[in-house]
Amino acid sequence: MANERVLVIDDGKDIRDLLVESILLPSGFQVLLARDGADGLQKALNEKPDFIIVDMQLPRLSGLELIRGLAERGQEIPSILITAHGSEQLAVDAFRAGACDYVIKPFEAEEILAAIERTIRTVHARRDKQELVERLHEVTHQLGDRLREFNTVIGIGKSVASLLDLEQLLNRVVEAGVYLTNAEEGILLMLDKESHELYVRAAKNLDSELAKTVRLKVHDSLAGRVIHTGEPLLVGEKGWQKIKTAYLVQSLLYVPLRVKGRTFGVLGVDNRKKSTPFTIRDQELLAALADYAAIAIENAQLFARTEVERSKLEAILRQTEDLVIVVDPNGEILLVNQAAQAAFQIPDQATGASLASALEHPELLELFEQPDERGSTRRAEIPLADGRVFNAHVTPIPGVGRAAVMQDITHLKELDRIKSEFVSVVSHDLRSPLTAILGYVELLPRAGPVNEMQAQFIQRVQRSVQNITSLIEDLLDLGRIEAGFDQSMQPYHISTLIRDVVEGLRPAAEAKNQTIKLSMAPHLAPNRGNPLRLRQLIHNLIDNAIKYTPTGGEVVVEASREQEQIVLRVSDTGIGIAPADQPYVFDKFYRSEAVVDSHVGTGFGLSLVASVVERHQGRIWVKSIAGNGATFTVVLPVLLPPEKPEQPAGRPRQGPANARSPAQIGGL
Ligand code: ADP
Repeated sequence: MANERVLVIDDGKDIRDLLVESILLPSGFQVLLARDGADGLQKALNEKPDFIIVDMQLPRLSGLELIRGLAERGQEIPSILITAHGSEQLAVDAFRAGACDYVIKPFEAEEILAAIERTIRTVHARRDKQELVERLHEVTHQLGDRLREFNTVIGIGKSVASLLDLEQLLNRVVEAGVYLTNAEEGILLMLDKESHELYVRAAKNLDSELAKTVRLKVHDSLAGRVIHTGEPLLVGEKGWQKIKTAYLVQSLLYVPLRVKGRTFGVLGVDNRKKSTPFTIRDQELLAALADYAAIAIENAQLFARTEVERSKLEAILRQTEDLVIVVDPNGEILLVNQAAQAAFQIPDQATGASLASALEHPELLELFEQPDERGSTRRAEIPLADGRVFNAHVTPIPGVGRAAVMQDITHLKELDRIKSEFVSVVSHDLRSPLTAILGYVELLPRAGPVNEMQAQFIQRVQRSVQNITSLIEDLLDLGRIEAGFDQSMQPYHISTLIRDVVEGLRPAAEAKNQTIKLSMAPHLAPNRGNPLRLRQLIHNLIDNAIKYTPTGGEVVVEASREQEQIVLRVSDTGIGIAPADQPYVFDKFYRSEAVVDSHVGTGFGLSLVASVVERHQGRIWVKSIAGNGATFTVVLPVLLPPEKPEQPAGRPRQGPANARSPAQIGGL
């Protein structure tokens, strides 16, 4: 107990002296005195003592009335009531009125001291509580301020984050920085990576000449220091600061603009006239704003770059002569370029409409509808009503849908037609002289005796002429097939054709000590087709398998039926085909480099095979690992009997990427 101020209100000298002289002053209290109730109340209200000792019986206002009077005025001053007539009722009334303690006269010094001690404890407890409440108020107030400031930062942050126009965004950021820190000027500096200098990208209230011309070296400026350290910089109490030569400020605050640990600029505020320095709070606010701003700037820059790319792409798509159509996974149009719009007469504003409703071209629609197999690209030739022919590729694009790109191949088709016509005419014209050569060569032995060597030469001439003749036959056949002159369709059994061909080629296989294995599903249904051409197809495939398989190898011929299709597979254990050659083996006259010198051939057999497959609305593809054999697979749809329309009963099975479909085979 010490130094508390106590108001003693008593009209009796004895008690007063006892309290004051013997108890309170020696204990270190500061004592105030009053001799009647009204005076005591007034003193209590004016002086606000730490506690009161008051007698019950007083002139003008009793002790109890005084305590009540204080309570009524909202003054909670702890008080001890002294009374000569202790009663239970009085005690209850005293405590109700707000008294802390109650002492009955006459009392011992210890008694009143104990009461004072209890009261002091109450005084301390109340004071602590009061302090706590005040502190709480203060902290709540500060927190409220903080919250308001950060809400402002968040609000500003959000509003700048939604801006995609870089200029507008940068200006807004600087304005917000000035507003938040109550600064005179604001500046946003960006780093020029090449010159390693900082230049003003946006400013508020800054001298416009300075804004235009300022370039600050990173190694030699305050802003550069922020770029270098990636830390904020707050200066102001050390006198004038230099932003650049001859541009002085009283105080300034710089914070870094950082994204993913990379500082690309500085956001700064300064005061030229005001001498009040910026505070740590200002720094926190500006740094929070800079965090938002940095992301927003990065986004806006990204958006600007994307926009440039997008408009470039749009221009390319618009200008290109290729036709481009893109649909989403539901078949709704995402993009149609002008060329495609004109070619297919797709109405304006077709974006969003279903392709099926906007496009009247069954072949192209079918190409879009075909199921994706392993995300592969589908190709087809698309003829237009105006006579042009397009080579269309439909490619699945993950996350987007499908895109069709179509190139005009009309001129190539025409060239191909002329070339085929030419080949056909030349072949035709060559046939008669060759027949004559062969005839005369055969007559040679009859014209007189020939020696052994001459006989050998005659034989070689005969073989060569026969080879040329068979090539010419093939050329003429292909010409006929491609021109559609060879359409006689009749029932056939694939198993019969296979057996015939295998029997015919067995001697050739045996000569190379090879085995031919036949694996045919029982009861293969008859199909409709051109047996002559199909025999040629099977012959060419097995002949190649024998030819390109070394001595002692194996050739397997399989035939089966899968749903509405007949599947023919010819595999061998031969030299195989390199991946680079695989896409071209069905082209006319194509021979892989690996066989040109080692195996006799014309490079024509597989193109004939491909044409026959096309005529039968089938598909063919090859799978091979160089050095490890090759497998050719042909899928032929089971065609309906002649009385029904000649349409395939089922869509031909899709093959892998190098598979030839009817539309692809035939020329190009
Ligand atoms: P060729 O008269 O050269 O056999 P083809 O058109 O029949 O002509 O075949 C084209 C090319 O494909 C061949 O030159 C060869 O490189 C390759 N080829 C065809 N079949 C096979 C096979 N079974 N094994 C390896 N390569 C083959």
